[in-house]
Amino acid sequence: KEKKISEQEKVQNKAPSQPAVFIPVDRSPEIQEARLKLPVLAEEQVIMEAVRENPGVVICGETGSGKTTQVPQFLYEAGYASDGQIIGITEPRRVAAVSMSHRVAKEMNLPPQVVSYQIRYEGNVTSDTKIKFMTDGVLLKEIQKDFLLKRYRVIIIDEAHERSVYTDILIGLLSRIVPLRNKKGMPMKLLIMSATLRVEDFTDNQRLFRTPPPVIKVDSRQFPVTIHFNKRTPMEDYTGEAFHKTCKIHRMLPPGGILVFLTGQAEVHNLCRRLRNAFPFRKNNADAAEDEDADSSEAMRKFKKAKQKKKTVSLPRIDLDNYSALPVDEGDEDREAGIGDEEDGGSDLDIGDDVADSEEKADPSIPLYVLPLYSLLAPEQQAKVFRPPPPGTRLCVVATNVAETSLTIPGIKYVVDCGRVKKRFYDRVTGVSSFKVTWTSQASANQRAGRAGRTEPGHCYRLYSSAVFGDFSLFSEAEITRRPVEDLVLQMKDLNIDKVVNFPFPTPPSTEALVAAEQLLVSLGALEEPPRTGRVKQIQQASLSCPITPLGRAMASFPVTPRYAKMLALGQQQDCLPYVIAVVAAMTVREIFEDLDRPARSEEESSKLTQRRARMTQMRRLWAGQGAALQLGDLMVMLGAVGACEFAGCTPKFCEDNGLRYKAMVEIRKLRGQLTNAVNAVCPAVGVFVDPKMTPPTEHQVVCLRQIVLAGLGDHLARRVQAEDLLDPKWKNGYKTPLMDDPVFIHPNSALFKRLPEFVVYQEVMETTKMYMRGVSAVEAEWVPQLLPQYCHFSSPEESPSPWFCSSTGTIRCHRKSTFFRVGWQLPAVEM
Ligand code: ADP
Ligand code: MG
Repeated sequence: KEKKISEQEKVQNKAPSQPAVFIPVDRSPEIQEARLKLPVLAEEQVIMEAVRENPGVVICGETGSGKTTQVPQFLYEAGYASDGQIIGITEPRRVAAVSMSHRVAKEMNLPPQVVSYQIRYEGNVTSDTKIKFMTDGVLLKEIQKDFLLKRYRVIIIDEAHERSVYTDILIGLLSRIVPLRNKKGMPMKLLIMSATLRVEDFTDNQRLFRTPPPVIKVDSRQFPVTIHFNKRTPMEDYTGEAFHKTCKIHRMLPPGGILVFLTGQAEVHNLCRRLRNAFPFRKNNADAAEDEDADSSEAMRKFKKAKQKKKTVSLPRIDLDNYSALPVDEGDEDREAGIGDEEDGGSDLDIGDDVADSEEKADPSIPLYVLPLYSLLAPEQQAKVFRPPPPGTRLCVVATNVAETSLTIPGIKYVVDCGRVKKRFYDRVTGVSSFKVTWTSQASANQRAGRAGRTEPGHCYRLYSSAVFGDFSLFSEAEITRRPVEDLVLQMKDLNIDKVVNFPFPTPPSTEALVAAEQLLVSLGALEEPPRTGRVKQIQQASLSCPITPLGRAMASFPVTPRYAKMLALGQQQDCLPYVIAVVAAMTVREIFEDLDRPARSEEESSKLTQRRARMTQMRRLWAGQGAALQLGDLMVMLGAVGACEFAGCTPKFCEDNGLRYKAMVEIRKLRGQLTNAVNAVCPAVGVFVDPKMTPPTEHQVVCLRQIVLAGLGDHLARRVQAEDLLDPKWKNGYKTPLMDDPVFIHPNSALFKRLPEFVVYQEVMETTKMYMRGVSAVEAEWVPQLLPQYCHFSSPEESPSPWFCSSTGTIRCHRKSTFFRVGWQLPAVEM
């Protein structure tokens, strides 16, 4: 083994043949001048020499120092894209991939066919592409097709400090791919770029690189930023607080752009609207109208166009290579930053934290040029923040986390930081998952503050007290440690990485999480069952390296979580596939209904909301159907809503009238197309579904659908608490699940609220006022031993006439003899 290592080291250290050519780039004088001011340019020699000498290099530099825009150009000029191979750059956010490809193309005076991008739903890559920006999920999918990534001469992993799950996995994979390529005489380079100096997870990591890659620091000029803390911390209405602070800065402080950090798209729009009302001017209103349009995003415009052309829209064919498995775009962060001395108030520019001023008092005479910025904003909208504001106005950008490190906005002097971030939370035991707004980390808050000191000394107004700041965690954890990993484990098994525990993760997920993922995948049939003989330790070891099954391969090719992928794999039966696809698409977009329970602002709005709520209730009832259909519960409501919406042409008006989220419905349409293509690719024989319209399922199909849902959500089975067990009143109408000690409930909005079937499966549990199940369907007791034998402990019929849960083991106790075949047919085995 020793020998092997030294051999590998030799290969790693050997400088592979260098591209000899120098490729000239024809830049405009203005661009050239702007480039020369970027700190990274001073390091070009150092960087290129390190790249020449080493298979892997880490580059650290403050946001805005020019890493993303310049390093690909250095490589291009040095000929790294001249032998038919290309330079690839991964970004954790779609918005960065698109915007950076445009920017680099412009700087290099090259067309988008040469400097291209590829994100989940779209891209402009051609055979002439030399520099390719992409999301990390896209590259991961490419590795599944071609492990050696032969198309690429260089891979740059950008924004590595974000520690997104895919970035972490890519770094792990590339730490193996690069030496392998070099060994095979096909040299390849890996560059890791980070906005912070905290890169030990990549460099001092024996599992990753035997010889630590050199770290090149790009020194950047950072002007001091004065920090102003609030004396008190608003717990609820930080958007309101941000509004007042921004108004004050605008009215009282010298010129300079304002950047406000909020947590999500809705908040961003809310604040933009309020600021535009407070400081109106014509241009703002024009922009506001455009923003409404921007909301409906790229895909929606395409959809609109398609509708004009044809009457029946066929679903777009989506390239299978081209997806990232997670819909979330707003990541979180992990960083540190050197900024000026922190002060707790007292400076000239401390404008205090009293919020006495009302909206009406704002002085409208100075124009404020307000722009939103968030991940899903259309690229041309987002590009506006880089352009100088109209003369005589002050720029104010209201942004989510994307402005923290992914994009550098010029001319910012004031930062308003709400101190919060939107994150996905997940409880491993209960499976309860939710998006929550929480405090950010100190590193992240400092990074935000640093945005104010790019061009001159600046000020950061934190909408929280210094005491609260002191309680922030120092850094945010890597995403991989706080999310379920079953989808990743499946993707890795599909890459034939069987021993996922041994994978060189920069930060490994807990063994507990890996075991849970592996167990779920085994029970879904995606992985082979581990042997049950031998010592306990051996079994445990074996159960962490189960190889993938043919079913698992099919599931891995569906861009949804493994539970839903199982449903898709089963969906071909009884012509259920179009329904399964629609249900899975609807479940994947999380919430299809508008939130009408929000508090009203005026009496008029209140009565309107009441009316709309009544209408929504009525429509839910209609879509839930009657008789057999009703048993499918909330999933039938989803099917009904999707079907009705498509028959109505999927218009914003139809959605608005019926309480549906238009964006969700458009996303569902896209996903249905994508999933259909994915299923067709696995089972070409299935080929169905070009028209998004569908007729309601037959009674027979509804029964089949309920079983398919049970097969996918088997670990989300719940049983109504029986009268004899009702010792504690808190269990009234409650359901027992295998793993939770407390009852879960059917939500009053659910189609099954009044019915309370004995056995149900649920999509997820959300904790609000109570633990509520979402996406509930009724299932029959006798299906359980047939469809979920892997969860069952079999007993004699007398002992357990109906399945019951054994909390200590999380298993279901029932008898094998079942009346399952009463329905007359059985789910056939899946054939691949
Ligand atoms: P880093 O990756 O180190 O954070 P970038 O390469 O993204 O830095 O940015 C370098 C400079 O290029 C910044 O000053 C930024 O404002 C500018 N820049 C980036 N994108 C654009 C754009 N689309 N239009 C104008 N300037 C841009
Ligand atoms: Mg960058």
